[in-house]
Amino acid sequence: MKLTFNAADERFREDIASWLQAHLVGEFEHLKFRGGPGDEHMFPEERKRWEQELAAGGWVGIGWPEACGGRGASIEQQVIFAEEYARAGAPGRIGHIGEGLAGPTIIAFGTPEQKAKYLPGILNGTEFWCQGYSEPSAGSDLANVRTRAVRDPDSGRWRITGQKIWTSLAHESQWCFVLARTEPGSVAHRGLGFFLVRMAQPEITVRPIEQLTGTSEFNEVFFDDALAEDLVGEPGDGWRIAMTLLGFERGVSTLGQQMQFQNELDEIIRIARSNGAASDPAIRQRIAEAHTGLRLMRYNALRMLSGDERSGPDSSALVYKLHWASWHRNLGALAMDVLGPEAELLDGAPYELTRLQSLFLFTRSDTIYGGTNQIQRNIIAERGLGMPKEAKGR
Ligand SMILES: Cc1cc2nc3c(=O)[nH]c(=O)nc-3n(C[C@H](O)[C@H](O)[C@H](O)COP(=O)(O)OP(=O)(O)OC[C@H]3O[C@@H](n4cnc5c(N)ncnc54)[C@H](O)[C@@H]3O)c2cc1C
Repeated sequence: MKLTFNAADERFREDIASWLQAHLVGEFEHLKFRGGPGDEHMFPEERKRWEQELAAGGWVGIGWPEACGGRGASIEQQVIFAEEYARAGAPGRIGHIGEGLAGPTIIAFGTPEQKAKYLPGILNGTEFWCQGYSEPSAGSDLANVRTRAVRDPDSGRWRITGQKIWTSLAHESQWCFVLARTEPGSVAHRGLGFFLVRMAQPEITVRPIEQLTGTSEFNEVFFDDALAEDLVGEPGDGWRIAMTLLGFERGVSTLGQQMQFQNELDEIIRIARSNGAASDPAIRQRIAEAHTGLRLMRYNALRMLSGDERSGPDSSALVYKLHWASWHRNLGALAMDVLGPEAELLDGAPYELTRLQSLFLFTRSDTIYGGTNQIQRNIIAERGLGMPKEAKGR
């Protein structure tokens, strides 16, 4: 198991740390520690300009192959980048769905024309993406997707009709990748296609959903005979492509988020010291437990990085999601208990939340998105531990 980074990696760490220090100034200074979970509605235009600043520095798509415009950075370097990014308090990324999900999927499955058409906009920080997977009756059971795609016999183009839901950042995105049924009458994971769709067309309606935080990071998206720009792979390949993409989702950025967690825990500890909560024995126990949980996360991440872990459904990646999501949700609750009665006071009506109040509310969703805790446990039990499969209602 690998516990340290080598000298070249440490030099890379110095490069990114000093670049961030030099560039998170002037018009970007006020974005420090902004735009993260629960604060994602703040400064979207400024954060888009920040994406372009990052891109100009060559820091977007660092893990992509050089042939596709990336730097071919190693996993270690990508983790270091994510760690230093959070340590510097650089703003929440608006480009992460394009960089981390759409881009790698197009690199893996797209044609040369599709790569030439879509990758540059992601790499230069001017085009943003959202993920059109979930539907009102297809969340955990994603294979139940009902949105359909029909090919126009004359033009050969695909048109999409249906509804997606919980689509993060749809209101800030030029593009959406959409999972839709290409084969009428098909069920479950068969007969699906993976489409790239331009958001700016009258056949698409984006309706914000107000969240617990009072903000609307995600949306309902309605497609009414909307034109798909491209189909990735063949009709029927959608499920395989969609699942590969979910593998990217559990990748390196998740590891780098530990630094953001450390920032949050540090703030909670600072408040506990200053308001006397640190003298409460029960709070002290929970702070120590949070610290221990974060250390375990770090060791688990390093173990994954070492690359000697099995990569099956009982792999450390699944265990990791379950662990960090529950840990982070508990951290949100700890923050409220450390704040005491102050946790219930708002700076203004209706929703002027402090950073820790947003943290508490947003962390309720950590155990839902990217696979709920129950679903993670089902997969670990069934496929990892060989337990009998759960009964299906259909
Ligand atoms: C903040 C946030 C951002 C999101 N962003 C996006 C996005 O950008 N794009 C996108 O496509 N989706 C997005 N989602 C949707 C997310 O993927 C779904 O919420 C998630 O997959 C769960 O689906 P669901 O909400 O339909 O809940 P359901 O699947 O209806 O589940 C409801 C409850 O039942 C439990 N449950 C369901 N099936 C089982 C089972 N077989 N065994 C035991 N328990 C079960 C679940 O664990 C859960 O507790 C986002 C969600 C959140 C919270």
